[in-house]
Amino acid sequence: MADQRKFYPFFSTIINFSDQRIKAQFDRWILHSNIIQIRFISALTGILYFISAYLDTLFAPDNVLSLKLTVHLYLLPAILFFITFLTFKERYYRFMLYILTVAPVIAAAGNLVIISKLENPSVYMAELYLILFWIFTVSGLPLLYAAASAVTTFFIVLVSTYLLFDFSAEVFTMHCFWMVAAFSFGFLGAFLLEKSNRSVFCTHLELEELAVTDKLTGLFNRVKLDEFLRDAFTQNRGETHSFGLIILDIDDFKKVNDRYGHLTGDSILVELSSLLIRYLPSKDKAIRWGGEEFMIISSDTEKQKLLGLAERLRRKIQAHDFNIPEEITVSIGVAFCRTGDTIDSIIKRADDALYIAKNSGRNRIEFSHH
Ligand code: GH3
Ligand code: MG
Ligand code: MG
Repeated sequence: MADQRKFYPFFSTIINFSDQRIKAQFDRWILHSNIIQIRFISALTGILYFISAYLDTLFAPDNVLSLKLTVHLYLLPAILFFITFLTFKERYYRFMLYILTVAPVIAAAGNLVIISKLENPSVYMAELYLILFWIFTVSGLPLLYAAASAVTTFFIVLVSTYLLFDFSAEVFTMHCFWMVAAFSFGFLGAFLLEKSNRSVFCTHLELEELAVTDKLTGLFNRVKLDEFLRDAFTQNRGETHSFGLIILDIDDFKKVNDRYGHLTGDSILVELSSLLIRYLPSKDKAIRWGGEEFMIISSDTEKQKLLGLAERLRRKIQAHDFNIPEEITVSIGVAFCRTGDTIDSIIKRADDALYIAKNSGRNRIEFSHH
């Protein structure tokens, strides 16, 4: 099955996605679900910096007022509103994440430069703790980016407060303590949220998988068939011969059931499905369409190749030993997509061809020329 289906063998590992494709899918999913948060939090933070700029005009001493205004009124709001703007353009999402990762580091550095010039820096140091907390639990950054941003901020702040400031032992110790507290609260919150997001994502994948899988045979079901056909039509804009449709129907299957029972019938369906998977090119899709009817969406664009595939399947099935005395055979209808087709019209043409195959003696292939 693995070559036919998207397969998710790692549901149980919640934190480690061993499969890189699933990890990439998760990253995209989480980014899209966080984008609204990033948009509004960045805008709100920009507005809060405007308010802090207003407070600066009330309280800042002359020697730092222009520096404070540069940082709080222009620099940080500009970066933050730019991030908000980027959330509207999907192609800039990656770029937006980088800026969002760097923005808190810039904010912390700005704060350090400012407070180094103040007589009462401790009043303004709360911003540093808030920044750490903001990165992890407020910003909407994915865990890895948040961790990179917070660790960088953490060390820049600790090293500069140690080297540049002349704090008393009490102030420096308490400062370190608040930094560690903010970091650990933030990290734990973000970590647990990531874990729960991953578990939700895995459940989402499992449900998606269940919804498109036929329970008995493990093939795709009709829900997925519709999706495949819709995709095939949008990708090719319904161009003639862009893909082929093969319908297989087991011959006289009712007799098999009557003679050997439904369980035997079921195991024949399972075995026949595994033959389809084995002999189908990996890019083609096998679907259980109904009871003992199967569909194949083939990317073959030449009639002879498509008919060759159908013929190969017919022969392999006939030659297979299904553990009953009789041969199991299938009748097959084949149609190519052509301009103006809809999902219903191409299925109808293949089905009509199948009907002809049945009426012409079964165990044969018919191609729809219409
Ligand atoms: P033909 O297609 O050659 O005209 O004959 P048929 O006997 O296969 O005819 P039809 O398609 O009308 O019957 C399909 C039979 O397939 C009816 C039902 O007993 C059997 N069937 C459908 N779904 C299942 C299933 O899930 N398990 C089993 N064991 N049998 C099924
Ligand atoms: Mg049938
Ligand atoms: Mg049948």
